[in-house]
Amino acid sequence: MLGLMQDWPLLQHKIIDHAALQYGDQEVVTRSVEGPIHRTNYRQVRDRALRVAQRLAKDGIKLGDRVATLAWNTWRHLEAWYGITGVGAVYHTVNPRLFPEQIAWIVNHAQDRAMMLDLTFVPLMEAVQDKCPSIERYIILTDKAHMPATKLKNAVAYEEWLAEADGNFEWAQFDENTAAGLCYTSGTTGDPKGVLYSHRSNVLHALQACMKDTLSVSAQDSILPIVPMFHANAWSLAFSVPLAGAKFVMPGAKLDGASVYELLETEKVTFSAAVPTVWLMLMQHMQANKVELHTLQRVAIGGSACPPSMIEFFEARGVTVYHAWGMTEMSPIGTIGAIKPALVGLGGKDLLAIKSKQGHAIFAVEMKITDDEGKQLPWDGVKFGRLKVKGPAIARRYFKREDEEILDDEGFFDTGDVATIDPNGYMQITDRAKDVSPAASGSPRSTSKISPSVIPMSRRPP
Ligand code: AMP
Repeated sequence: MLGLMQDWPLLQHKIIDHAALQYGDQEVVTRSVEGPIHRTNYRQVRDRALRVAQRLAKDGIKLGDRVATLAWNTWRHLEAWYGITGVGAVYHTVNPRLFPEQIAWIVNHAQDRAMMLDLTFVPLMEAVQDKCPSIERYIILTDKAHMPATKLKNAVAYEEWLAEADGNFEWAQFDENTAAGLCYTSGTTGDPKGVLYSHRSNVLHALQACMKDTLSVSAQDSILPIVPMFHANAWSLAFSVPLAGAKFVMPGAKLDGASVYELLETEKVTFSAAVPTVWLMLMQHMQANKVELHTLQRVAIGGSACPPSMIEFFEARGVTVYHAWGMTEMSPIGTIGAIKPALVGLGGKDLLAIKSKQGHAIFAVEMKITDDEGKQLPWDGVKFGRLKVKGPAIARRYFKREDEEILDDEGFFDTGDVATIDPNGYMQITDRAKDVSPAASGSPRSTSKISPSVIPMSRRPP
């Protein structure tokens, strides 16, 4: 017997509809790539996203087509995501920190039909566009005044392109399992693998991320996602922040300590998320200039292990640290270091030891650790094994590699990480499988230990 509830597909545009209707005046603030601070709100973001969808339809983009974005966190990038998925196409986030030849490889693999890119990345694409024949048009995320002279094919300024749509358009309707987003793993061994998110998985993951003991996203918050939209869905914040109706603050291209500090203070940010290298730059700026934080309440730190000294730095200033772990294939959040009731009251080194672990699984992420034969290991905090995960926002196949089995007999995905899990459910990464076990070369996820998401731009080869 089936339930008798309404058929309300979990489509991404429902999020921006809700934000526009319930929190229409809520601010969306960006340090624009052109320089000045730009202010808009959810009502305008939705209106312009609808125009993006309409304009893409006019360009012949249809259900299932891939549209690449090569862009920083900005209001235009946000509109682009909702507009692309609103016409039924797939946003393909291209990570500018990949090598140019890897970018060309993934654009070809994805067969992107158009690319929306920031001014910063025009020279990068000019250098590789000959190797990306599937792209019919480059839409540069700027206005006419800032449009550069460029050799990019059919290049147009986003604002001029958008002005050709009047917004009299309705979101496309389709099944919630339709593909919404595509992000390639930043593997440095073997070809990158495409993770294909669906509308359903993105909406479910956004709901998971909002929970108090996940990222605790609320309409009372001012949120600065420093984690880029071009890698692992910005930890779902492009969905969960509008879903909750929080003020949305975006750093654009400037991730240095001084720029981040200024945004945190002037926009009264209460919650922010970034990788340790970014926090390190902020810490150095604060120490060198003897400045303090006045509104920040919580930070999420992940992407690589968070050093205990970083936890101490923030918590000494009254900022709660949530150490998080996840990966592209997991949409991406898997665990978070929120404190469980049984551990309330812990202090000093004991609390720091717990907070330094990668945390416990969030709802709809099942975890297990196994030995190389697949036998489950106990959650005793000592035995370490391959970390495997299962859930509705976790990959079951890679894009265009659908004949390749990547799950075990129980439907779990092997993360390629090696971990312990303690009796309270807190997981701790101890290594990468490929670094300790030759058998793990057969793991679906055999990537290098250092992800390009945490390599500063300055270290990327030219
Ligand atoms: P990616 O899919 O590029 O985001 O990389 C995911 C990988 O980054 C994971 O499989 C881990 O190896 C690593 N990672 C992510 N978060 C953490 C963390 N908090 N501590 C240690 N490693 C992490």
